[in-house]
Amino acid sequence: MAEQTMLEPVVDLAGLRELARDMVVISNRRVPLVPNIGVIGGRHSVLVVETGMGPRNAETVLKFAADYAKGRKLYLTTTHFHPEHAFGARTFAGEATYLINRDQAEDLRLKGPGYVGMFRGLGELVARQLEGVELGQPDIVYDQAYDLDLGGRVVQLRATGRAHSKGDQVVQVPDADVLFTGDLVEAGQFAIFPWFPPHDTDVSGTRWLAVMRRLADDRPRVVVPGHGDVGDAQLLADVRDYLQLLRDETWARRDSAMSEETIVEEISALMIARHPEWAGREWIEKGVGCLCAEHCA
Ligand SMILES: [Zn+2]
Repeated sequence: MAEQTMLEPVVDLAGLRELARDMVVISNRRVPLVPNIGVIGGRHSVLVVETGMGPRNAETVLKFAADYAKGRKLYLTTTHFHPEHAFGARTFAGEATYLINRDQAEDLRLKGPGYVGMFRGLGELVARQLEGVELGQPDIVYDQAYDLDLGGRVVQLRATGRAHSKGDQVVQVPDADVLFTGDLVEAGQFAIFPWFPPHDTDVSGTRWLAVMRRLADDRPRVVVPGHGDVGDAQLLADVRDYLQLLRDETWARRDSAMSEETIVEEISALMIARHPEWAGREWIEKGVGCLCAEHCA
Protein backbone atom coordinates (compact mmCIF):
# COMPACT_ATOMS: atom_id res chain seq x y z
CA MET A 1 0.00 0.00 0.00
CA ALA A 2 2.59 2.58 1.06
CA GLU A 3 5.40 1.42 -1.15
CA GLN A 4 5.23 3.63 -4.21
CA THR A 5 3.68 6.92 -5.17
CA MET A 6 5.71 7.28 -8.35
CA LEU A 7 2.94 6.07 -10.63
CA GLU A 8 -0.49 7.61 -10.56
CA PRO A 9 -3.03 4.99 -9.40
CA VAL A 10 -5.25 5.26 -12.46
CA VAL A 11 -7.33 2.49 -14.02
CA ASP A 12 -6.30 2.21 -17.67
CA LEU A 13 -8.40 0.35 -20.23
CA ALA A 14 -5.16 -0.55 -22.01
CA GLY A 15 -5.06 -3.37 -19.44
CA LEU A 16 -8.20 -4.95 -20.89
CA ARG A 17 -8.02 -8.66 -21.69
CA GLU A 18 -10.48 -11.47 -22.22
CA LEU A 19 -10.62 -14.20 -19.55
CA ALA A 20 -13.36 -16.39 -20.97
CA ARG A 21 -16.55 -16.08 -22.99
CA ASP A 22 -18.27 -12.81 -21.97
CA MET A 23 -15.78 -12.12 -19.18
CA VAL A 24 -12.92 -9.62 -19.16
CA VAL A 25 -10.41 -8.21 -16.72
CA ILE A 26 -9.05 -4.66 -16.72
CA SER A 27 -5.65 -5.70 -15.42
CA ASN A 28 -3.68 -3.29 -13.27
CA ARG A 29 -0.56 -3.48 -15.47
CA ARG A 30 1.36 -3.81 -12.17
CA VAL A 31 0.56 -0.23 -11.17
CA PRO A 32 0.46 0.00 -7.36
CA LEU A 33 -2.91 0.88 -5.83
CA VAL A 34 -4.76 -0.14 -8.96
CA PRO A 35 -6.66 -3.42 -8.57
CA ASN A 36 -7.50 -5.98 -11.21
CA ILE A 37 -11.11 -5.30 -12.15
CA GLY A 38 -13.46 -7.97 -13.47
CA VAL A 39 -16.50 -7.61 -15.73
CA ILE A 40 -18.59 -10.78 -15.97
CA GLY A 41 -21.53 -11.08 -18.32
CA GLY A 42 -24.65 -13.24 -18.48
CA ARG A 43 -27.72 -13.16 -20.69
CA HIS A 44 -29.52 -10.38 -18.81
CA SER A 45 -27.01 -8.98 -16.32
CA VAL A 46 -23.36 -7.99 -15.90
CA LEU A 47 -21.33 -8.03 -12.67
CA VAL A 48 -18.43 -5.65 -12.05
CA VAL A 49 -15.83 -6.75 -9.48
CA GLU A 50 -13.94 -3.80 -7.86
CA THR A 51 -14.33 -0.08 -8.56
CA GLY A 52 -10.82 1.38 -8.63
CA MET A 53 -9.88 4.11 -6.14
CA GLY A 54 -12.04 7.22 -6.02
CA PRO A 55 -14.75 8.69 -8.23
CA ARG A 56 -12.70 9.30 -11.39
CA ASN A 57 -11.40 5.74 -11.60
CA ALA A 58 -14.89 4.46 -10.85
CA GLU A 59 -16.26 6.66 -13.64
CA THR A 60 -13.87 4.96 -16.07
CA VAL A 61 -14.96 1.52 -14.89
CA LEU A 62 -18.66 2.36 -14.89
CA LYS A 63 -18.51 3.82 -18.39
CA PHE A 64 -16.68 0.76 -19.67
CA ALA A 65 -19.11 -1.60 -17.94
CA ALA A 66 -22.17 0.23 -19.24
CA ASP A 67 -20.84 0.03 -22.82
CA TYR A 68 -19.94 -3.62 -22.32
CA ALA A 69 -23.37 -4.42 -20.88
CA LYS A 70 -25.27 -3.06 -23.91
CA GLY A 71 -28.43 -2.58 -21.91
CA ARG A 72 -28.02 -5.53 -19.57
CA LYS A 73 -28.63 -4.87 -15.86
CA LEU A 74 -25.50 -3.90 -13.89
CA TYR A 75 -24.35 -5.31 -10.57
CA LEU A 76 -21.29 -4.29 -8.57
CA THR A 77 -19.38 -6.18 -5.93
CA THR A 78 -16.04 -5.56 -4.18
CA THR A 79 -13.73 -8.15 -2.63
CA HIS A 80 -13.06 -6.08 0.52
CA PHE A 81 -13.35 -2.50 1.74
CA HIS A 82 -9.82 -1.22 0.96
CA PRO A 83 -9.75 2.07 -0.99
CA GLU A 84 -8.56 0.90 -4.42
CA HIS A 85 -11.09 -1.95 -4.37
CA ALA A 86 -14.22 -0.28 -2.98
CA PHE A 87 -13.84 3.50 -2.70
CA GLY A 88 -15.54 4.15 -6.01
CA ALA A 89 -18.81 2.40 -5.22
CA ARG A 90 -20.70 5.68 -4.71
CA THR A 91 -20.23 6.44 -8.42
CA PHE A 92 -22.24 3.28 -9.27
CA ALA A 93 -25.22 4.33 -7.11
CA GLY A 94 -28.39 4.35 -9.19
CA GLU A 95 -26.56 2.64 -12.09
CA ALA A 96 -25.70 -0.73 -10.54
CA THR A 97 -26.95 -2.87 -7.66
CA TYR A 98 -24.13 -3.00 -5.11
CA LEU A 99 -23.91 -6.36 -3.41
CA ILE A 100 -21.44 -7.39 -0.66
CA ASN A 101 -21.04 -9.64 2.36
CA ARG A 102 -22.06 -8.37 5.79
CA ASP A 103 -18.58 -8.28 7.34
CA GLN A 104 -17.30 -6.18 4.44
CA ALA A 105 -20.26 -3.80 4.78
CA GLU A 106 -19.32 -3.40 8.45
CA ASP A 107 -15.67 -2.77 7.55
CA LEU A 108 -16.72 -0.12 5.04
CA ARG A 109 -18.96 1.63 7.55
CA LEU A 110 -16.63 1.44 10.56
CA LYS A 111 -13.17 1.73 9.03
CA GLY A 112 -13.82 3.35 5.65
CA PRO A 113 -13.62 6.97 6.84
CA GLY A 114 -10.33 6.34 8.66
CA TYR A 115 -8.85 4.73 5.57
CA VAL A 116 -9.72 7.77 3.45
CA GLY A 117 -7.57 9.85 5.80
CA MET A 118 -4.77 7.30 5.98
CA PHE A 119 -4.58 6.93 2.19
CA ARG A 120 -4.62 10.69 1.60
CA GLY A 121 -1.46 10.70 3.70
CA LEU A 122 0.28 8.34 1.26
CA GLY A 123 1.06 11.14 -1.18
CA GLU A 124 -0.23 13.69 -3.64
CA LEU A 125 -1.05 11.23 -6.43
CA VAL A 126 -3.19 9.11 -4.13
CA ALA A 127 -4.84 12.13 -2.49
CA ARG A 128 -5.79 13.43 -5.93
CA GLN A 129 -7.69 10.23 -6.75
CA LEU A 130 -9.52 10.43 -3.42
CA GLU A 131 -10.66 14.02 -3.97
CA GLY A 132 -14.42 14.20 -3.58
CA VAL A 133 -14.71 10.55 -2.53
CA GLU A 134 -17.89 9.45 -0.78
CA LEU A 135 -18.24 5.92 0.51
CA GLY A 136 -20.85 3.73 -1.13
CA GLN A 137 -23.72 1.94 0.54
CA PRO A 138 -24.56 -1.61 -0.46
CA ASP A 139 -28.02 -2.28 -1.84
CA ILE A 140 -27.89 -5.98 -0.92
CA VAL A 141 -25.96 -7.49 2.00
CA TYR A 142 -25.53 -11.25 2.43
CA ASP A 143 -24.07 -13.26 5.29
CA GLN A 144 -21.91 -16.14 3.97
CA ALA A 145 -22.88 -17.01 0.41
CA TYR A 146 -24.83 -15.47 -2.45
CA ASP A 147 -25.46 -16.98 -5.86
CA LEU A 148 -26.01 -14.23 -8.41
CA ASP A 149 -27.79 -15.35 -11.58
CA LEU A 150 -26.67 -13.25 -14.54
CA GLY A 151 -28.73 -15.32 -16.99
CA GLY A 152 -27.21 -18.63 -18.08
CA ARG A 153 -24.32 -17.98 -15.73
CA VAL A 154 -24.37 -18.10 -11.93
CA VAL A 155 -21.62 -16.28 -10.05
CA GLN A 156 -20.85 -17.44 -6.52
CA LEU A 157 -20.02 -14.74 -3.99
CA ARG A 158 -18.46 -16.30 -0.91
CA ALA A 159 -17.40 -14.63 2.32
CA THR A 160 -14.17 -16.27 3.44
CA GLY A 161 -14.11 -15.05 7.04
CA ARG A 162 -11.38 -12.84 8.44
CA ALA A 163 -8.05 -13.09 6.59
CA HIS A 164 -6.46 -10.10 4.74
CA SER A 165 -9.27 -8.02 6.27
CA LYS A 166 -12.23 -8.82 8.47
CA GLY A 167 -14.65 -8.92 5.55
CA ASP A 168 -12.95 -10.59 2.58
CA GLN A 169 -15.00 -12.32 -0.07
CA VAL A 170 -14.06 -14.23 -3.21
CA VAL A 171 -15.97 -14.33 -6.50
CA GLN A 172 -16.20 -17.65 -8.33
CA VAL A 173 -17.45 -18.23 -11.87
CA PRO A 174 -17.90 -22.01 -12.02
CA ASP A 175 -18.78 -22.40 -15.72
CA ALA A 176 -15.44 -20.85 -16.72
CA ASP A 177 -13.56 -22.01 -13.60
CA VAL A 178 -12.37 -18.48 -12.77
CA LEU A 179 -11.69 -17.16 -9.26
CA PHE A 180 -11.34 -13.49 -8.26
CA THR A 181 -9.46 -13.36 -4.96
CA GLY A 182 -9.00 -9.69 -4.10
CA ASP A 183 -5.99 -9.14 -1.85
CA LEU A 184 -6.05 -12.67 -0.46
CA VAL A 185 -3.69 -13.29 -3.38
CA GLU A 186 -1.20 -11.04 -5.16
CA ALA A 187 1.00 -12.04 -8.07
CA GLY A 188 4.66 -11.11 -7.92
CA GLN A 189 4.59 -9.57 -4.49
CA PHE A 190 4.59 -10.50 -0.82
CA ALA A 191 1.22 -10.90 0.90
CA ILE A 192 -0.11 -7.53 2.09
CA PHE A 193 -0.63 -7.52 5.86
CA PRO A 194 -2.49 -4.32 6.78
CA TRP A 195 -1.24 -4.72 10.38
CA PHE A 196 -1.36 -1.23 11.86
CA PRO A 197 -1.73 -1.57 15.62
CA PRO A 198 -3.52 -0.02 17.40
CA HIS A 199 -5.64 1.34 14.51
CA ASP A 200 -6.22 -1.81 12.51
CA THR A 201 -5.37 -5.34 13.65
CA ASP A 202 -8.08 -7.25 11.79
CA VAL A 203 -5.72 -9.12 9.46
CA SER A 204 -5.11 -12.69 10.68
CA GLY A 205 -2.20 -14.72 9.33
CA THR A 206 -3.49 -17.99 10.76
CA ARG A 207 -7.01 -17.58 9.40
CA TRP A 208 -5.64 -16.37 6.07
CA LEU A 209 -3.55 -19.55 5.82
CA ALA A 210 -6.63 -21.67 6.48
CA VAL A 211 -8.55 -19.81 3.75
CA MET A 212 -5.69 -20.29 1.27
CA ARG A 213 -5.57 -24.03 1.96
CA ARG A 214 -9.25 -24.29 1.09
CA LEU A 215 -8.98 -22.14 -2.04
CA ALA A 216 -5.84 -23.90 -3.28
CA ASP A 217 -7.51 -27.31 -2.89
CA ASP A 218 -10.16 -26.24 -5.42
CA ARG A 219 -7.51 -25.71 -8.13
CA PRO A 220 -9.38 -23.18 -10.34
CA ARG A 221 -8.24 -22.86 -13.95
CA VAL A 222 -7.86 -19.07 -13.86
CA VAL A 223 -7.00 -16.97 -10.81
CA VAL A 224 -7.38 -13.18 -10.90
CA PRO A 225 -5.32 -11.80 -8.01
CA GLY A 226 -5.98 -8.46 -6.31
CA HIS A 227 -2.89 -7.00 -7.97
CA GLY A 228 -0.44 -8.37 -10.52
CA ASP A 229 -0.71 -10.71 -13.48
CA VAL A 230 -3.58 -13.13 -13.95
CA GLY A 231 -2.47 -16.71 -13.34
CA ASP A 232 -3.66 -20.16 -12.40
CA ALA A 233 -3.96 -22.31 -9.26
CA GLN A 234 -0.21 -22.00 -8.69
CA LEU A 235 -0.80 -18.45 -7.45
CA LEU A 236 -2.97 -19.86 -4.65
CA ALA A 237 -0.38 -22.49 -3.74
CA ASP A 238 2.38 -19.84 -3.66
CA VAL A 239 0.50 -17.67 -1.17
CA ARG A 240 -0.47 -20.69 0.92
CA ASP A 241 3.14 -21.86 1.08
CA TYR A 242 4.44 -18.38 1.86
CA LEU A 243 1.97 -17.89 4.72
CA GLN A 244 2.74 -21.30 6.14
CA LEU A 245 6.49 -20.68 6.08
CA LEU A 246 6.02 -17.19 7.53
CA ARG A 247 3.99 -18.63 10.39
CA ASP A 248 6.31 -21.56 11.07
CA GLU A 249 9.49 -19.49 10.97
CA THR A 250 7.96 -16.75 13.14
CA TRP A 251 6.62 -19.12 15.74
CA ALA A 252 9.83 -21.19 15.90
CA ARG A 253 11.77 -18.02 16.77
CA ARG A 254 9.06 -16.76 19.10
CA ASP A 255 9.49 -19.96 21.10
CA SER A 256 13.17 -19.17 21.56
CA ALA A 257 12.35 -15.78 23.13
CA MET A 258 14.28 -13.95 20.38
CA SER A 259 13.45 -10.22 20.07
CA GLU A 260 10.85 -9.29 17.47
CA GLU A 261 13.43 -7.10 15.74
CA THR A 262 15.79 -10.04 15.24
CA ILE A 263 12.92 -12.25 14.10
CA VAL A 264 12.00 -9.66 11.47
CA GLU A 265 15.60 -9.40 10.25
CA GLU A 266 16.11 -13.13 9.94
CA ILE A 267 12.77 -13.89 8.32
CA SER A 268 13.00 -10.97 5.88
CA ALA A 269 16.39 -12.26 4.71
CA LEU A 270 14.99 -15.77 4.36
CA MET A 271 11.89 -14.72 2.41
CA ILE A 272 13.75 -12.34 0.10
CA ALA A 273 16.24 -15.13 -0.71
CA ARG A 274 13.31 -17.41 -1.52
CA HIS A 275 11.38 -14.84 -3.60
CA PRO A 276 13.97 -12.33 -4.84
CA GLU A 277 11.67 -11.16 -7.64
CA TRP A 278 8.68 -10.32 -5.42
CA ALA A 279 7.88 -6.67 -4.66
CA GLY A 280 6.48 -5.33 -1.40
CA ARG A 281 9.26 -6.51 0.92
CA GLU A 282 8.03 -4.14 3.64
CA TRP A 283 5.00 -6.40 4.13
CA ILE A 284 7.14 -9.23 5.51
CA GLU A 285 7.72 -7.27 8.71
CA LYS A 286 4.00 -6.56 9.07
CA GLY A 287 3.29 -10.25 8.61
CA VAL A 288 5.78 -11.21 11.30
CA GLY A 289 4.21 -8.64 13.65
CA CYS A 290 0.76 -10.04 13.02
CA LEU A 291 1.84 -13.66 13.52
CA CYS A 292 3.83 -12.79 16.66
CA ALA A 293 0.61 -11.33 18.10
CA GLU A 294 -1.27 -14.47 17.10
CA HIS A 295 1.30 -16.78 18.70
CA CYS A 296 -0.45 -18.75 21.44
CA ALA A 297 -3.38 -16.35 21.06
ZN1 LIG B 1 -6.50 -4.89 0.56
